[in-house]
Formats: sequence, structure tokens, C-alpha cells
Amino acid sequence: MAELGLLGMFVPEAYGGSGMDFVSYVIAIEELSRVCASHGVIASVNNSLVCYPILAYGNEAQKQKYLVPLAKGELLGAYCLTEPNAGSSAANQQTTAVADGDHFVLNGTKVFITTAGPANVLVVYVATDRALGPKGISAFIVDADTPGVKKGKKEKKLGIHASDTREIAFENARVPRANLLGELNKGYGVALATLGGGRIGIAAQALGIAQACLEASVKYAGERVQFDRLIGEFDAIRAMLADSAVEVATARLLVYQAAWLRDRGRPHTKEASLVGGAGPRRLRLPERVPRRALPARRQDLRNLRGHDRGPEDGGRRPGPQGTSPGGREPMSRPVRPIALVILTACMAYPGVTLLWQGLYPFVAGEYFNLVGQTGPWMALAAQLHLPPIVVLGAKALLGLFWVLGVLGLWAGDGRAYPLALLAAAGTLLYPGGGMVMGALALVCLIFFREKPAEVPA
Ligand SMILES: Cc1cc2nc3c(=O)[nH]c(=O)nc-3n(C[C@H](O)[C@H](O)[C@H](O)COP(=O)(O)OP(=O)(O)OC[C@H]3O[C@@H](n4cnc5c(N)ncnc54)[C@H](O)[C@@H]3O)c2cc1C
Repeated sequence: MAELGLLGMFVPEAYGGSGMDFVSYVIAIEELSRVCASHGVIASVNNSLVCYPILAYGNEAQKQKYLVPLAKGELLGAYCLTEPNAGSSAANQQTTAVADGDHFVLNGTKVFITTAGPANVLVVYVATDRALGPKGISAFIVDADTPGVKKGKKEKKLGIHASDTREIAFENARVPRANLLGELNKGYGVALATLGGGRIGIAAQALGIAQACLEASVKYAGERVQFDRLIGEFDAIRAMLADSAVEVATARLLVYQAAWLRDRGRPHTKEASLVGGAGPRRLRLPERVPRRALPARRQDLRNLRGHDRGPEDGGRRPGPQGTSPGGREPMSRPVRPIALVILTACMAYPGVTLLWQGLYPFVAGEYFNLVGQTGPWMALAAQLHLPPIVVLGAKALLGLFWVLGVLGLWAGDGRAYPLALLAAAGTLLYPGGGMVMGALALVCLIFFREKPAEVPA
């Protein structure tokens, strides 16, 4: 990322950065996160939470010493605000800095710090006057190798595992007064202004993740076959994909708008809060889109780990994993019992009769008595110069197709559909009532074909 200039994207080239605007920065974070959310958050923290406050509040010496190598990716930075008792309520800082000659002595603990392990530079917020509350907070740039700076164990998170998150403790860590970032006791303003951009960056990360989930879902829906159809042809799946696409597009507009306002130096606290604070809670992108995308995502993850056959091999996976046998949520709609009952009634007479007529002569040892026997099927066989066994075999087969086809449809197995269709078409050869029943059966089957998802599962 450093070689690509992704660690100091909106830092001016004079300070080692890429000199991009904020909109370009959020697009880059979105694209990074679309492929790897860990890379997205590492870049986002270094850019928004570390480079930005030094660029905006640092003096020239601090910029040369810290900003230039941070923007070039020669150093990595971390942002240390959160404490065990200062999360959402960030002003409740209990880490203190006490002046001691040319130094401040820091004591306290920061938690959930992104990039804590590899970070060389820490932007730390501490209480320099606890009696003043938010007005007694100051920001410092701290070298991570300062004696008294202790990094804790890497946290086990649900995701973004490649992003190193840890606790950082300060035990009498002496930080030069020259490393005070901005003015004494004005650090909370630095923290809030920094979070304004940080929120947009993290929202871009959520956007990239959601976009990746949407793309994986669309791909999977175009590959996975259930009930003899791509699942992407089912309305329930289409509706979920459409909802996700709308939410992702809406979030993109919000994120880009906030970034655009920030580029122009216009007020954007509300927009940044919409996308980075209330946004994820309102749209719940990082939760909702991946949740809808879960089967596809799960499949992708399996493919990555080489645990399962994937869409590359046709998307048909063996075993009771799919939608049909278990009747999973999107498919378990009300059955169409009337169609099934009619189909079964139509099948009963010709199906069982055909099966019986085809098998009985063999069972009863009367096959040779049939030679010369008349009837529409036999007449057809005679015309075609076929022996009676062909007729009997065809009858037995059609009868079997009927039975298996209808039983299969009752069981909700889409593979039974072609069998039942073939049997219904065969019954049209039957004169009189058989023809009518075959036609009715065909109508029922067409009905099923249109709504295969509603076959009982
Ligand atoms: C992966 C990860 C990386 C992080 N990286 C950093 C980092 O680099 N630097 C850093 O300083 N911090 C970092 N944080 C910490 C993050 O900023 C805090 O988690 C966040 O500020 C929330 O604080 P908390 O976890 O203590 O939750 P709490 O503040 O305890 O909140 C708990 C719950 O209560 C809700 N809540 C809180 N206040 C209100 C209210 N007024 N009204 C309604 N509901 C409320 C919250 O929404 C939440 O659901 C990171 C966190 C995570 C998970």
C-alpha cells in the first residue's frame, strides 16, 4: 500500500503524500475494502486518524518528523482515544499527562487500538486537566518505542483479522513537550475533527464490504441451481438483491457527499455522523447486506479454503445442503395443494393402470398370450412392426414415471418434474378419458413450472 501511495492519500505531495482529494481517498478505501477490509481499515486509520491531525494541527517540525514518513508508509500510525471507560463517551478520559519540565508523563490505558502492534507513531488523547472534562484534554504524538509504552495481546475479533487491534498502556511514559499536538487542553477538538474524517473513511470501508457481498451474491445467484432453476430467477432472491443494491447505492451517495463537503471545507459533521455514526445503525450495511449474502459468502469462503465444490464446477453440490431438501426460508412459501391434488388425481388412473398393464403380463406369465392382441397401443406397435414387449415396456415405464414424478413433486424435488411431464405427455396417447387426464396433468405441471419455488419443500 505504501508503494502505491495509499497511506498518505490526501497529504500534499510536499509532505510525502499523494495529494489526492478526500473523495478520491474514500473511493480508494471503498475499493480496498471490497477486496480486503483489513487493508481498508489499516489505510483508513493511517490516513484519517493519524496523518490528518498532524497535517491539520501539527507544527512544521512535527510534520517533517512524523507526517512525511507516515504519508510515505515508512512509519505506521495508530490513534489512541478509546479507554475502558471512554468509548462512546470519549470525553471521559482517564489517561493523564502531567507536566514535568520539558516532558509530560503519561499514565493510563487505551483499548481497541487499530494497528497497535506494528505502529511506530501514536496519536494519544489524554487528560491534562481532569477537572475541566472535555476542555482539559490534550493530544500528543508519542513514539511507540518510548519507555513505559506497553502493547498488550492482540485482540481476537470477529473479522478484519489482519488488522492488529490491541490495548496500549502508558506507565510513566515521558513524552517531550514538543510532541504536544495543537494547543494544551484543546485536544478534544482535535479528536472530534479527526473523527469527522475518520467516520467517512470507516463508512467507505463498510461500503466496500457491502459492495463485495452484493457482487458475491449476484454471482452466486447466477450459478446456484435449485428446483432446476438458477436461484437468481426466484422473486424472493431478486427482491433481496434489489434491496441490497438500493442500500449500497444510497450509502455510496451519502459517503461521497460527506467526502465532497469535507473537500470544500464546508460543514459536514451531520453528514459524517450520518454515514459513520447513525449511518451504519440506520442502514446497517455491514450487517444487513452480508447477512442477505450469507449463502454466497459462505460458499466463497469455502471455495477459498478449498473445503467444498464451488460455482466453478457448475454450482451443483451434492447432499442435503441446498434449498430443496431442507426447504430453507426463501423457498418455504405456502404450497399449492390444489394443483398437486389435481395432478395426483389425474395420475392415479392412467399411471397405476399403465404400470399394471405393463408389468402384469410378465408377473402372471401371460406375455405370449398378448401376441396378436388388439388395442390402440398394440395397433400402433403392429403398424411400427414392434414386438409387444416394447409396448409393455413403454407402458410400465410411463406408469413408473407417473408414480415417481408425482411422488417427487409432493416431496418438493424439482428433478421429478421432467418425469411427470414425460408421463403426462405419454398419457395423451391414451384414447378418451386418458387423453383428458393427460391434458389436465400437463396443465398442472405447467402451473408447477411457473412457480417451482412453491412446490412443498
Ligand atoms: C475493530 C475496532 C477497532 C477500533 N479501533 C480503534 C482505534 O484505532 N482507536 C480508538 O481510539 N478506538 C478504537 N476502537 C474503539 C471504538 O472507537 C469504540 O469501540 C467505540 O467508541 C464504542 O465504544 P465502546 O466499544 O466502549 O462501546 P460503548 O460506548 O460501551 O457502547 C456500548 C453500546 O451502547 C450504545 N450507546 C452508547 N452510548 C449511547 C447513547 N448515548 N445512546 C444510545 N446508545 C448508546 C452503543 O451504541 C453501543 O451499542 C475500535 C473498536 C473496534 C471494535
